Amino acid sequence: MINLEQFEVWFVTGSQHLYGPETLEQVTDHSQAIARALNWSDAIPVTVVFKPVLTTPDAVHQLCLEANAARTCVGLITWMHTFSPAKMWIAGLRALQKPFVHLHTQFNRDIPWATIDMDFMNLNQSAHGDREFGFIGSRMRLERKVVVGHWQDEDVQSSLGVWARAACAWHDAQGARFARFGDNMREVAVTEGDKVAAQMQLGYSVNGYGVGDLVRVVNAVSDAEIDQLVQEYQDQYVVAPSLRAGGEQQTALRDGARIEAGLRHFLEQGGFKGFTTTFEDLHGLAQLPGLGPQRLMAEGYGFAAEGDWKTAALVRAMKVMSAGLDGGTSFMEDYTYHLNHDGPRVLGAHMLEICPTIAADKPSLEVHPLGIGGKAAPVRLVFDSQTGPAINASVVEMGNHLRMIVNLVGVVPADEPLPRLPVARAVWIPQPDLKTAAAAWIYAGGAHHTGFSLALTAEHLADFAEMAGMEFLLIDQDTRLSAFKKELRWNDLYYHLARGL
Ligand code: MN
Repeated sequence: MINLEQFEVWFVTGSQHLYGPETLEQVTDHSQAIARALNWSDAIPVTVVFKPVLTTPDAVHQLCLEANAARTCVGLITWMHTFSPAKMWIAGLRALQKPFVHLHTQFNRDIPWATIDMDFMNLNQSAHGDREFGFIGSRMRLERKVVVGHWQDEDVQSSLGVWARAACAWHDAQGARFARFGDNMREVAVTEGDKVAAQMQLGYSVNGYGVGDLVRVVNAVSDAEIDQLVQEYQDQYVVAPSLRAGGEQQTALRDGARIEAGLRHFLEQGGFKGFTTTFEDLHGLAQLPGLGPQRLMAEGYGFAAEGDWKTAALVRAMKVMSAGLDGGTSFMEDYTYHLNHDGPRVLGAHMLEICPTIAADKPSLEVHPLGIGGKAAPVRLVFDSQTGPAINASVVEMGNHLRMIVNLVGVVPADEPLPRLPVARAVWIPQPDLKTAAAAWIYAGGAHHTGFSLALTAEHLADFAEMAGMEFLLIDQDTRLSAFKKELRWNDLYYHLARGL
């Protein structure tokens, strides 16, 4: 399980010596109060650490170098209580390798109309001090989030919390390892890509392993460990009668448990944060892994099928961002449509591998034949998704840059029970409507695989995409195809030229 409290965000205030020690003491007091409030805020899942007020170029530079080296620091919150001449920040910001958010706030919420004097004016200078700092960020073409409002406001703390979650996911990706069992599903385009370029830009590595390496670990799993897993299944799920002790398909369940345990051992031993499988490369495994990936996703691992490593890494990032939030996060695929004029919608599922964190009720553990892969009938958890607002996200490689596409959707109940559908599923209505959303998604080249989440919002993914230097495209209530197509053309040009900026 992922714990975000272990991570720190440093609260950094800029000022200068012009105002004398008394004013700087007040600046320090105020900054400490804000840092303390943000640290206590339920909206911010990380530890917010106050850092001494910065008044010289050397101090700024030193702080940025320390942030780079600090293993638990995921980023900085910057704020200019007073004016802080921004040439002081150039060396530090040039060296800074962690994300930062610019909090444009003021210690005093209200202007004290009756008593305001020049002392108040000289202390509460964020309105112009933060603009000087903002200029250098833009002049240096630095990606950062700007959050505006009083620091005690719920929406300000919420926006900082969203950014902190994205910063944790970005931190988590640096040096992360993903295992790819087998290669890509043959001839599939969108799941391929340049793993070297991805590692240079996104920080994680993807390496292939022969399925035989996994089979060796799977075969070494002890009967006692399988017994223990089977007991867990009985406690957590509705287990189909044929899978219970003495049932005619108990072997299938034990084979599924063996694969799950083997996968977990392999991932733990190699320090992996996610993995992919492919049904075209299962030699030596009794079944296509279904239950195993489902339960490992629920533990926080990234996963995608058919060798889709970009989606596996995206699902992991979304797992980190959503740690501790209500609503689940899963690997997903737009599977089939309901094109009824009254309410067109999408049925999302996969062959097996949907994460039970999105389940509305206790999942049902079942075994059914699978028409693909030529293996024994695999065990899987079957359930309906929770309903409510959700997002689908995809990362694709456009040749010269990475693109993230996010669509807001509303998950709804199925019109009727689905007694013959033996997989976990979600039914959703995309914003602004299925026709526009699907056309926009297809114009953008969005994949058939996605990271799906009832816990995250577009803001989480947008913040993450900016940290990662990815193009970010949102399909929501306001999307109009004519404007969206222009955005695609303009962005293509931007990402081509941006290398020279
Ligand atoms: Mn697929």
